[in-house]
Amino acid sequence: MLIVLHPDISREQQGAVEARVRELGFTPHAIEGAGRTAIGITGNKGPVDPGHFRELPGVADCIPVTAPYKLVSREVKHEDTVVDVSGVPIGGSDLVVMAGPCAVENENQILTAARGVAASGASLLRGGAFKPRTSPYDFQGLKQKGLELLEKARSETGLKIVTEVKDTETLAAVAESADLLQIGARNMQNFSLLEAVGDLRKPVLLKRGMSSTLKELLMAAEYIVSRGNKQVILCERGIRTFETMTRNTLDLNAVPMLKMQSHLPVVVDPSHGIGIRSAVLPMARAAVAAGADGLIIEVHPDPDRALSDGMQSLNLPLFDKLMREIEKIAAAMGRGLHRVARS
Ligand code: PEP
Ligand code: MN
Repeated sequence: MLIVLHPDISREQQGAVEARVRELGFTPHAIEGAGRTAIGITGNKGPVDPGHFRELPGVADCIPVTAPYKLVSREVKHEDTVVDVSGVPIGGSDLVVMAGPCAVENENQILTAARGVAASGASLLRGGAFKPRTSPYDFQGLKQKGLELLEKARSETGLKIVTEVKDTETLAAVAESADLLQIGARNMQNFSLLEAVGDLRKPVLLKRGMSSTLKELLMAAEYIVSRGNKQVILCERGIRTFETMTRNTLDLNAVPMLKMQSHLPVVVDPSHGIGIRSAVLPMARAAVAAGADGLIIEVHPDPDRALSDGMQSLNLPLFDKLMREIEKIAAAMGRGLHRVARS
């Protein structure tokens, strides 16, 4: 149920509506829209009787919500959500590009990558410090040292940092360094981690699980938003299908479907989506054409020597080419490319 408030409702009247929701044993969530506020209700097992609220002062309407992912649904909030990542707006008119290596490997690697992607127009630097790897024998990331190197790259280039948080034990450390917390595909349904990031007030990039449906992705986002953290960005990164020629199948259906169902921004990761260096560029173009709000691209100064995901990582000249091409596609879509102001 969504309680739509009059635009001129007083604070006291809004407080009384929220108190009524609590009295009934439910949780109220204020949802700010253009020109008016609404109160979403969660915690109810079945339909809520609108008669509880209809006559309260300042209430304009009571609308039933049918989507199970209530707070992230378009039914509850019609306008697009714009997530503010330390001053970089994601989900607004401009396309935002996040780029960098799969993993932070050493100082020279991350600084070279950061300088290169910044020069080509990226706004965020990606790089895993805590890496969830399929094999326990593979490089697991530089951990705390990796976070420190990301911070160094941020202070040198002005790029904001997106990095993965692998578990609740390391969340505090990662949240201290990151501007945007990445929840990886393998953790999309790690409910304790979703709840823990839901309790923070820091933006989250939630990647789709490799075998997850769009509904499951939206329900995972709901875990975060229902704890009060409204700053969630959805990320399509490819799913497992019967196809074996590519690492995953980049499901670009996700872009219009998620946008139809949800007000949250949608970012596409063509690097993991296809897994083949020379195919990342065409899929990046396609993602922008499909309406993605941003891209996350793996870029390494020397991809053939990368400690992880070298096969799908672009070198710096290829990334520059990608940026020039997607800028044209974005322009055709009536969008600019967001750039960070540098001093
Ligand atoms: C990554 O971004 O390097 C990564 C591990 O991605 P995913 O969780 O989508 O596999
Ligand atoms: Mn990777």
